[in-house]
Amino acid sequence: MDKSTSVSRNSNFTPVASDKHLHPPVKVPDGRKPHIPPNKGIDGIMECPVCRKSIFPPIHQCPGGHTLCSDCRPEVNNKCPVCRKEIGNIRCLALEKFAVSIPLPCRFHSLGCKVILPYYSKVKHEGQCIFRPYTCPHPSLDCLVTGDVPSLVAHLRERHKVDLQMGPTFNHRYVKQDACSVDNISWTLTLFYCFNHYFCLNFEAFRLGSEPVYIAFLRFMGEESEARKFGYCLEVSGDSRKLAWQGVPRSIRTHHHSVRDSYDGLIIQRSLALRFSGGDRRELKLKVNGKIWKVL
Ligand SMILES: [Zn+2]
Ligand SMILES: [Zn+2]
Ligand SMILES: [Zn+2]
Ligand SMILES: [Zn+2]
Repeated sequence: MDKSTSVSRNSNFTPVASDKHLHPPVKVPDGRKPHIPPNKGIDGIMECPVCRKSIFPPIHQCPGGHTLCSDCRPEVNNKCPVCRKEIGNIRCLALEKFAVSIPLPCRFHSLGCKVILPYYSKVKHEGQCIFRPYTCPHPSLDCLVTGDVPSLVAHLRERHKVDLQMGPTFNHRYVKQDACSVDNISWTLTLFYCFNHYFCLNFEAFRLGSEPVYIAFLRFMGEESEARKFGYCLEVSGDSRKLAWQGVPRSIRTHHHSVRDSYDGLIIQRSLALRFSGGDRRELKLKVNGKIWKVL
């Protein structure tokens, strides 16, 4: 990259006083755009202009007073991304102390969190705050939608056309035309509403070693601590045989891959699945019965 285009023209002069308004964003050597935090309170002040993550001690600053996180400091070749001055080894103790001393509300306070903590504990809390939005539980790879449970239920139904069933018992059918094409990992998701909560049932095809298998498991749309108050069972049958699973729903905070990879559900090997399907063993036709209950 041609440095002359990216370096501020007056970089040899004293930087202007107000960085926020007068410095245009400057390009960093690796091409990422640094960003001047907009005015969003202390979260903005404590945000690294390069990676946009929260800054933790040791906080370094350039001679002009611009701060950035210690991970990004080597990335910008020790040059301030705002004013291009050499960053050196100057700590910003004032900012470090300031962040420790000011109690601040959790950033999810508009979603209901009442917690007030000093900055660093606040950032840690926010990573586990039960009011933080959930990520869409649909197994579709490109869905990054987040929100609270009611908004995700609406999103699942509208965007992913997911079925919603009422009541704690269900009788489900999974049909796949070409049972031998399990190589294309496939899945379905169904929503259940009971006990004033939403649950989602995943059904996925995957490989266990070289063996194609199916897994069905239930997830709770809420926190893990709440999920543990429920139990569920799944049962698949056919050809006078029956396979059953009893488990505890996992929270949708747990990614469906993690649940699958820990085999925390009803696992059906393909040969058995085809036996349950009956017929000519080409089509997959599984009848899965299930029940959700509240643990007293
Ligand atoms: Zn950074
Ligand atoms: Zn600077
Ligand atoms: Zn919180
Ligand atoms: Zn989604």
